[in-house]
Order: sequence, then structure tokens, then C-alpha cells
Amino acid sequence: MKCLICQAASNNVHGDGDWTEVKCPAGCGRFRVSANLVAKMKFRNEFFDIERTRRWLKMSRNDEPVPLISTYDYHVSLLHRDAEERSTIPPSRSRQPLTSD
Ligand SMILES: [Zn+2]
Repeated sequence: MKCLICQAASNNVHGDGDWTEVKCPAGCGRFRVSANLVAKMKFRNEFFDIERTRRWLKMSRNDEPVPLISTYDYHVSLLHRDAEERSTIPPSRSRQPLTSD
């Protein structure tokens, strides 16, 4: 099996049906991904942003030794953004607050 984050060869364990547990020796460590999210990513051919996801896992391990990545976490902070999407979103510094006038 492959790591769902970096595609390295890893040990994947299917959980109770709601998640897959991955043990990645290449730097991602041990984590769980919700089955919903795995299915969605396969369907849309999307990928994790490796650096951001590893950082997120590191932070999450303060609370939970084997963090579960949910669909919500993925869309909020872990989805790999491609160049096309970046060009359609204006940089945040050009956005004016609605209350400015
Ligand atoms: Zn990995």
C-alpha cells in the first residue's frame, strides 16, 4: 500500500470502516484518514499538500498520538492547491475590509 500523503510504500491498516490507518516510514508517521475523504480524493484525483499535512500532523500529535484527518481538515488546510486555483484567488492583502468606509 502507499502512503496517502506522500505516496511512499507504507503499512496501511483498514479500520472499522470509517477510516484507514497509515504508518509511513518516509516522514509522515502514523495517522488516520477518514474513509469518506479517501474516496473523495480518489474520485476527484486530488492530493494532500505534503508539507502542510506533515506540519498539521505534527501539531495534532500534541493532543492525539494518531491524528484522524477528516474531510473538514482536508478542505480547510490540507488540500493541494494547484497553480490554476492560485491565480483565480486574489492575494489577501488586496482585499479591502467591508467596514473600511
Ligand atoms: Zn508519507
